Amino acid sequence: MADQCVFCMIAGGKIPSAKVYEDSQFFAFLDINPVNKGHTLLITKRHAATLFELNQQELQNMGILIQSIAKGVYRATKPEGIKIEQRNGRAAGQVVDHVHFHIVPRYNGDSEHKTTKYSSPQEAEQLARAIANNLH
Ligand code: AMP
Ligand code: ZN
Repeated sequence: MADQCVFCMIAGGKIPSAKVYEDSQFFAFLDINPVNKGHTLLITKRHAATLFELNQQELQNMGILIQSIAKGVYRATKPEGIKIEQRNGRAAGQVVDHVHFHIVPRYNGDSEHKTTKYSSPQEAEQLARAIANNLH
């Protein structure tokens, strides 16, 4: 775990999050500033700054999980599309230096440059549970 890394703290339960998925290697939770409700982040529990630091086994497992979380988000939010995004480096828009995939429900005509808010922590928790219940 890297000191002061917000995603290490979330994976370790030191910062609360609306959890969507957890296993021994990975953790997924709702983005606090979602483009649309249901916007989920998938992270490694192990601290790694970028995609380039992941090993083959982590990459393979993460690929399978990306699809399964995308299914959960799709079934729970019924969007018109799902966008998967992964950023490496400031020039690519990476703000948190702990590797993560964005899984974002999208609607015709919406903008990825705006964000929304959950009306309460309960709303976020409920949606996280709905996604978790629809992963497979
Ligand atoms: P990126 O620009 O790819 O590094 O995205 C980082 C994402 O992490 C942003 O979409 C933030 O809204 C999200 N984020 C930062 N802090 C938290 C947090 N404590 N809980 C949930 N999401 C967070
Ligand atoms: Zn970290």
